[in-house]
Amino acid sequence: MQIHRAKHILVSPWHIIENGYIAVVNNTIIDVGSIAAASSHLKSNVIDHGSGVIMPALLNAHTHFELSALQGKISFDKGFNNWVRELIKSREECTVGLLCQKAKEAIDAAILSGTYFACEISTLGITKDIFADSDIGGIWFKEYLGSNLIQNDLAQLSSNKIHKKESIAGHAPHTTSPAILNVLKKEAKIANLPFSIHVAESTDETEFITTKKGSWADFLKERGIDTSLWGKSRSPVQHLDDIGLIDNLTLLIHLLNVDTADIEIIANRQAKPIFCPRSNFNLHKKLPDIPLFLKYGLKPALGTDSLASTETLNMFDEMLYVAKNFPAINPSEILAMATTNSADALCFSKIAGTLEKGKIASFIYLPLDLTHKNLSDSIISIIDYRDEQQINT
Ligand SMILES: [Zn+2]
Repeated sequence: MQIHRAKHILVSPWHIIENGYIAVVNNTIIDVGSIAAASSHLKSNVIDHGSGVIMPALLNAHTHFELSALQGKISFDKGFNNWVRELIKSREECTVGLLCQKAKEAIDAAILSGTYFACEISTLGITKDIFADSDIGGIWFKEYLGSNLIQNDLAQLSSNKIHKKESIAGHAPHTTSPAILNVLKKEAKIANLPFSIHVAESTDETEFITTKKGSWADFLKERGIDTSLWGKSRSPVQHLDDIGLIDNLTLLIHLLNVDTADIEIIANRQAKPIFCPRSNFNLHKKLPDIPLFLKYGLKPALGTDSLASTETLNMFDEMLYVAKNFPAINPSEILAMATTNSADALCFSKIAGTLEKGKIASFIYLPLDLTHKNLSDSIISIIDYRDEQQINT
């Protein structure tokens, strides 16, 4: 048994213990509490981390490590369609070796910055082994898009390991046919695994879904994708609901262009909203209406998206960005978006997100003195913490 002690233990975004400890056996938390109240045998076996705070490791609910080699190569300010074109071209110019090497480096950097779980979306499939062999937990999603799918190509879904799973993702309602999205969602549902999809990200997407016309329709035509059977709908979220894609295991990524009717659908289905605000602002000069989702009782999670659309894969950066842009949101709610809410979205609540008995001992230590601060100010200091080299366990 190991006893990890620190001046503060952040059990959850709503609970900090002063002068506390975590007892760990076989990488599982067996007890959490305050040193003063602990029995004497606990006091003899202590690893004292110091005057900082031990807190749960962070979970990134949406990223593409696979695109890390594109960092700095794509312009954010020439419109979304141009970004997509540059991304495809830039990715084609990279060797698989380079894409893999940069993905590995990005995973290592994420771990160093306190993220121990992630949802990796892989279009090319090349990060599967890298993710499986790495120290990061989470879900590796094979992503599909277009209008053709060979059944044999469907990724093998697995949930053998407690902290690492494999599932499937559809790219988006305007890039992937309803028939294929249906097959993909069904497969994920049978395996009882989360299904991920980008939705309501761009105005081009909304135009295409509501009218089947516009620049996106032209773009698909240019790439030889037949969309004649795709149908129209009131909105991208409505479209996904119409084809049976939204339930409590669906991760809806972005949700930039939604109305209250869309949010009601998401709330009724208990789907999981995932926001990537820095990426959204870079590409669309717009932010998701996070307070409105909270008003509907939803528990959004945060993701960074990829280095092709954001500056870092550091979840502290994402949380700080939310805190600065939405000062009215309770800081604990923001930390929850990278811990408890993310864990819930990944179906990892039993093993991660808080430092409670029975969960995996996935925690980080920040050398940060929280003395004399109330809960809200403590959480703000944590979100504002920057020194990657010193985050460790
Ligand atoms: Zn994405």
